[in-house]
Amino acid sequence: MAPFDVASLLARRTSQSDEGPIVRMSQRTRELRAKGQDIASLTIGEPDFDTPFHIQAAAGEAMKKGLTHYSPVAGILELRQALALKLKDENGLDYAASEIVIANGAKQAIANAVLALIEPGDEVIMLSPYWVSYEIIVRLAGGVPVILKAGVEENFKAPPERIAAALTDRTKLLILNSPNNPTGAVWSAFELSALAAVVKSHPRLMVLSDEIYEYILFDGKMTSFASLPSMRERAITVNGFSKSFAMTGWRLGYAAGPAPLAQAMARLQSGLTAGANSFVQHAALTALSGGRADVGRMRRRYEARRDMVVAALARVPGLRLAPIPATFYAFPNVGAFLGRKAGNHVMDSVETLCDWLLEENGVATVPGSAFGDPNCIRLSFATGEAELAKALERFTGALERLTA
Ligand code: PLP
Repeated sequence: MAPFDVASLLARRTSQSDEGPIVRMSQRTRELRAKGQDIASLTIGEPDFDTPFHIQAAAGEAMKKGLTHYSPVAGILELRQALALKLKDENGLDYAASEIVIANGAKQAIANAVLALIEPGDEVIMLSPYWVSYEIIVRLAGGVPVILKAGVEENFKAPPERIAAALTDRTKLLILNSPNNPTGAVWSAFELSALAAVVKSHPRLMVLSDEIYEYILFDGKMTSFASLPSMRERAITVNGFSKSFAMTGWRLGYAAGPAPLAQAMARLQSGLTAGANSFVQHAALTALSGGRADVGRMRRRYEARRDMVVAALARVPGLRLAPIPATFYAFPNVGAFLGRKAGNHVMDSVETLCDWLLEENGVATVPGSAFGDPNCIRLSFATGEAELAKALERFTGALERLTA
């Protein structure tokens, strides 16, 4: 008998469910640092700030009060009511508390929504560049990702005609992420209205609107897709605490949607993970009701860093950058540098370029191919100003040294 081999028993879905290149770059950064190399990293997609102290204290208080038991599957009522109020006041959305499902991170909220809607073979429109987890989740559900690309020259936003042309009778969901990871693009109310008209023309198309970077907005205005006329029944609004309140490790997010969908999402969550962490939900209540001073303080720092990034990148001839009205990401197009050389080493792809930037120039980034654009590189500026300045000097200096 052949030796027992667990690896041969693994389900196929496990081979397509990690964030590949992002994990690889972070891991390599750790290895090089462990060897004593000085690496400036622009890879991490999370705030470098600690969670504001009053939110930490609220979690401690909740634990001391014994709020450490299972919570209701859809989340504690007080938090769902506070979220309903937030969505009304800040986003112009009318959701009852019973239409909000709190989850272990926005990621789980997205998984709940996709699993609640998608049958094997259903098509899901993804506007590229996009956050890699969408594709992973859609594939896990058996859905078929339909990827629509928009490049730097379109400010990374696909025009409505391209979206309309991709619709079929199998299309069921479109995933929208504004403000966007990895590009920082924000869809205006006007652009969203044009999208809404396309959605309305299809009998069964829904939109998942991921608004997790809502508060990290520097220019323009945030519009929630579900606030557009007739779109409430067509939309699922996803948001969370990770980015806005610097609470990534706490794992708390939510989805709001029409009642039957909210109930279906809660049923799924009940079977998979049950209610989110109880004392974290109490801390989140404090985060929501405690004003937005910390959110504003962090936003101003990100904005100053955005300005540093834009100024540094503008000095590199050949590099193309779309406006970055939001988030802590820049997504420069480095297409002009592909094919160039460092000595005999040819930069034949954006992965090769990112590897060379890391191994030979001490700056860690993420290849844009991880997000659907093989001509771009993602730079996260959720990092201290000194490290950011060093990273930018290395990044721009390295590109300028490449020869034709
Ligand atoms: N949506 C987008 C666009 C993200 O970039 C991320 C995290 O990187 C998430 C959702 C997940 O957030 P959470 O930490 O709440 O799961």
